[in-house]
This record gives sequence, structure tokens and C-alpha cells, in this order.
Amino acid sequence: MNFTYSMPTSIYFGEDVILSHQEAFEGLGVKALIVTGRRSAKANGSYDDVRKALEYLGVEHVLFDEVEENPSLETIDKASELGKNEEVDFVIGIGGGSPLDAAKAIAVFVKNPQVTSNTVFDQGPLEHLPVVAVATTSGTGSEVTQYSIVTCNKEETKKNLGQSIFPQIAFLDPKYTYDLPYTITVNTAIDAFTHLVEGYLSSQSTPVSEIYGKEGLALFRDCFKNLLEKELSEDFRAKMMYASMLAGIQIAQAGTSLPHGMGYALTYYKGLPHGLANGVLTTAYLGCFKDQEKVGTILNLIGVKDLEELQGILDRLIDIDIDITEEELQIYASSFAENMPKLKNHPEAVGREEILKIYMESLL
Ligand code: NAP
Ligand code: ZN
Repeated sequence: MNFTYSMPTSIYFGEDVILSHQEAFEGLGVKALIVTGRRSAKANGSYDDVRKALEYLGVEHVLFDEVEENPSLETIDKASELGKNEEVDFVIGIGGGSPLDAAKAIAVFVKNPQVTSNTVFDQGPLEHLPVVAVATTSGTGSEVTQYSIVTCNKEETKKNLGQSIFPQIAFLDPKYTYDLPYTITVNTAIDAFTHLVEGYLSSQSTPVSEIYGKEGLALFRDCFKNLLEKELSEDFRAKMMYASMLAGIQIAQAGTSLPHGMGYALTYYKGLPHGLANGVLTTAYLGCFKDQEKVGTILNLIGVKDLEELQGILDRLIDIDIDITEEELQIYASSFAENMPKLKNHPEAVGREEILKIYMESLL
């Protein structure tokens, strides 16, 4: 047995967890940059809770509330300028994966004013300001991962910033997700599910990451039922947030692989939400995976008898209507066949033809 394990984020999970643990913000500095999307953080109470905690501790803050879905480097640059001008000491991301990933990237740019969005991808490891992550969706697990996925319009794709930016603190309060609309609940839940699947099957998977993966997959036995029956109880919300966090801890060790890498083109060119872009490719991916014993373990854990039954569940949840041609899939396949960081997480050698086959089976 041979593995390493590191999870440097302190996790606070539960109802009202920010106000009951406001001391966690102590020692991070005297001024924070709060990074959110346009609307939801103010509506679900998370921004208010953070503001109250900071005011109680006498920590100043400035707000950047313009992060869009799949955050662009242009938006991140704009927020980083604000952070530099205001001389902030730390960054608090509140939201789904988009504001959290943006907050992580901003923490790098504010700490390293000489690094720009053009040069960051060619840098070695960089330091960053401390990051606090407040999750308000149950999907990406970004609050416990080192990844920051950004949209690079120059290269017409999404990609990892390439720096390791674990939040110092993650707050997970399921109440922020109580009013998450059904569609976003489904899209983000499928994202967490694909993290569990891809992390478990990854060539980087370790005995420890698999513990998190199996625990998270077992929760989907109930969570899929809740999603199909639209029973979004408080108990479900807590379970879903926990599953998403476990999935995040797992992919922080093991990474994601083919569906995630292949899904980026579907998000960039066809506007498919991140979770659906991976979810739509998952069953074909599982079908072509060589170690069917490991695939069988996944199916057992989630309580379905075969891939056909899983496809039935995903078909009922995933509602996509996109125009896509074989020519476009050929282009996506050629481009992804060059994506070494993602391909290395797949345990077998895989080429353009296998990639194209997964795209075609899933989308045509
Ligand atoms: P998101 O893009 O952060 O947000 C999607 C939508 O949900 C936005 O309209 C947002 O509104 C809304 N929303 C968020 N929380 C809400 C709440 N509690 N109630 C109502 N609406 C709410 O969605 P996401 O799926 O969580 O994040 C996707 C991004 O994360 C992608 O860019 C993906 O690549 C990335 N990702 C990162 C990792 C990682 O490890 N770093 C892993 C997987 C995915 P507002 O804009 O108003 O907030
Ligand atoms: Zn994902």
C-alpha cells in the first residue's frame, strides 16, 4: 500500500454554523474581500451571516458581487484589482462553485501582483491569500478542493488555474440550499455524483480517497429517490451537502477524469450546466471502463442493478435539448485527446476514437 493524504481545510458543517463559529475568522486579517454571484448570496442568508460575523469581530469588508456562472478570467481580473486597491488580507467566497473558484483565483492574483491572467498558467506554485469558502450549492465540493476552474475565452475553454488553493476554512450550512430551485438542485447533485464516480475510478484513487467515495455514493441510494420524487426535505438538503463535501474531499486526492474533461466543451460551446455536461456522458463512460468489477461496486452502493437502470434515472433527471453534429463532436474529441492532465486520471490508455465513441453514444 502506498499513498499520501492531505486535507488542510477546516470544515464547519451544520445549521447556523457561521454565527456559532465566528471565532474561526479571527487571525485571518483586518479586511476581507467578499466574492459572490449577483443575487443568491443575498437572498439565502449566507451573505448576512458572514457580514454579521465580521462586524462582531471588527473585520472590515468590501463586496464584489459580479461573478457569473463558469467565472471568466476577465471577471476575476476585475475583482483582483478591487482586492489589490483595497489592500485586503483575505478572501471570502460565498456561493456555488463559480464564486468559490473565483475567490480562490483572486486570492492568488492579489497576493502576486506581478502575475497576470496571461502568465498564471506558466507559473510554478504560487502563494495565495487565505480563503474562506461558504458553500450554497451541493455539487462542486469546491469548498474542500484545491482547484479553481476558470473560463479562458482566449482559448475558448474552461481550465484549472493550475495552482493549489485549498480554502483555509469551509462553512457548510444546509439551510442556504433550502430554496435552491429544483433544476439547480438536480444539476449540482449530478455534478457531485460524477465526482464520486470519476474519483473512485481514477488512476490517482487511494485507499483513503475511496473511503470518502464509497460513503458519498451510498448516500445517493436515497438522494436519487428524493430527486426523482422531488422531495427536497431539510434532511435531504443536509445529506446532499454532506455527499457533495465527501465527493470534494475525494477528488482533491484523486481528481476527475474523462466525463469532466469532455464536458467542458459542452458547457463552453453549448451552454450546458456543468453537472449535466458530465452527467450526460457518465453511463457511456462506465460502459467502456475496463474494470467492470469496480463499476459493479458503484452500482451496488447506489442500489441499482445495472447501467441501464442508472441510465433510466439519469434520463429522468437530465433534461437537455441541444443541437449538436457529428462534426462538432469530432472537433471536441480531437481537442480533448490532447488534454494530458485529465487523460492521466483514466487508468487505461485512451485515444481519440474511444473519446469520440463516448460523445456519440451519449449525444447523437
Ligand atoms: P454556480 O455556477 O456557482 O451557480 C449556478 C446558479 O445557482 C447561479 O445562478 C447562482 O446564482 C445560483 N445559486 C447558487 N446558490 C444558490 C442558492 N443557495 N439558492 C438559489 N440559487 C443559488 O453553480 P455550481 O454548479 O455550484 O458551480 C459550477 C462551477 O463550479 C463551474 O464553473 C464548475 O467548473 C466549477 N467546479 C469546480 C470544482 C472545484 O473543485 N473547484 C468542482 C466542480 C465544478 P448567483 O449567481 O446569484 O449566486
Ligand atoms: Zn464537477
